[in-house]
Amino acid sequence: MDTEGRIVRTEEEWRRELDPDAYAVLREAATERPFTGAYLDEKGPGTFRCRGCGAALFASDTKFESGSGWPSFTDPMVAEAVELRPDSSHGMVRTEVLCARCGGHLGHVFDDGPGPGGQRYCINSVALDFERTQD
Ligand code: FE
Repeated sequence: MDTEGRIVRTEEEWRRELDPDAYAVLREAATERPFTGAYLDEKGPGTFRCRGCGAALFASDTKFESGSGWPSFTDPMVAEAVELRPDSSHGMVRTEVLCARCGGHLGHVFDDGPGPGGQRYCINSVALDFERTQD
């Protein structure tokens, strides 16, 4: 981790730390197949953290059913938790969402969301770890 709190690892280190599916998404910007992710139907209260670095990214109360096949959120927990970057890969113009702390690819954000901000953060389950709130 450098002085700004960012986590910097070599790709070789990431490859050792992450399982192959998480590595492919977080470090190679792959997309998990829709309707396959572990957190698609997760409705419990809690916090979704980055599987790469543990940063708190999305709160369960912003999660909604989008029908897209991927976990969908209206907002990140704090704007600074994520970085947005133009992405013109695969013949589409999209906005990529990355973890601000480790640079891991999380998914994309679209402007057809249901909340006041109108955003739909479309996030791969395998890029996340769910921390359920204990009651
Ligand atoms: Fe991260």
